Amino acid sequence: MFDTLSDRLTSVLQNLRGKGKLSDADIDSTAREIRIALLEADVALPVVRAFIAQVKERAKGAEVSEALNPAQQVIKIVNEELIAILGGETRRLNLAKNPPSVIMLAGLQGAGKTTLAGKLALWLKKQGHAPLLVACDLQRPNAVTQLQVVGERAGVTTFAPEPGNGVGDPVDVARRGIEEAKRAQHDIVVVDTAGRLGVDEELMRQAADIRDAVRPDETLFVVDAMIGQDAVTTAEAFRDGVGFTGVVLTKLDGDARGGAALSVREVTGQPILFASNGEKLEDFDTFHPDRMASRILG
Ligand code: GDP
Repeated sequence: MFDTLSDRLTSVLQNLRGKGKLSDADIDSTAREIRIALLEADVALPVVRAFIAQVKERAKGAEVSEALNPAQQVIKIVNEELIAILGGETRRLNLAKNPPSVIMLAGLQGAGKTTLAGKLALWLKKQGHAPLLVACDLQRPNAVTQLQVVGERAGVTTFAPEPGNGVGDPVDVARRGIEEAKRAQHDIVVVDTAGRLGVDEELMRQAADIRDAVRPDETLFVVDAMIGQDAVTTAEAFRDGVGFTGVVLTKLDGDARGGAALSVREVTGQPILFASNGEKLEDFDTFHPDRMASRILG
């Protein structure tokens, strides 16, 4: 996903190698090139501005280090600032002291929520948890069946409304799902919710109603990294409409520019917890800002 950005940054930084001392003009022109590379990769403008200002300030004031030459010094600064915009430390999943913990998934239709529910369930199972999937996406035809299918593949139980009862009330299903988790001793409940093609009021209200009914320990905003700048506007809409405590980036295996995904943490102030990079349930892991920065810097 970040191949072009990675190539650009590597070549910009490569140009610094071999220079003895860096003048302010060298730093300014490097900063300009980095700025263009980030903007072309779709990183949101305010994020780029803050990033460049920080890199410039630190590079100009960089202490002379015995161990690093000036080029390495700048590379180190860029790396550290990339890690910072990606959230710094890896943030672990917040779980309740008294199980069951509740993890609610929210995001646009097609973002990869249902697939993520299966991935998360498998991942949690491998960590020794006993998750229950709860099907509250009652809008999209087949969403319930799709969740049951990923649940089966992950080897976990799915709680769904009984067929034949009409569309059903997602808030009621969510509540009953939590009861079922308590009864059958599941320690984590993953609640899949409905997504629309675009942000809309009804979707936000429904997600907020489910949130109020289940009081999640984590509300994860699931965002397709391929949707470009829309990732940022969608994240802002969900932050204001539902609120979330963490972000999951999906489709990082795609070949879009992906910079918007790099902006979500900085724009919303919420950490990226997980990354999804493929259609298989195993294509999923905890998000590590330092590893992602290393990947981008090549
Ligand atoms: P939902 O509407 O948010 O529940 O989205 P789905 O889970 O149904 O996913 C929409 C499509 O994206 C499906 O075809 C998934 O197989 C695909 N998908 C989900 N996650 C990923 C991913 O990380 N990489 C790729 N390449 N495809 C994904």
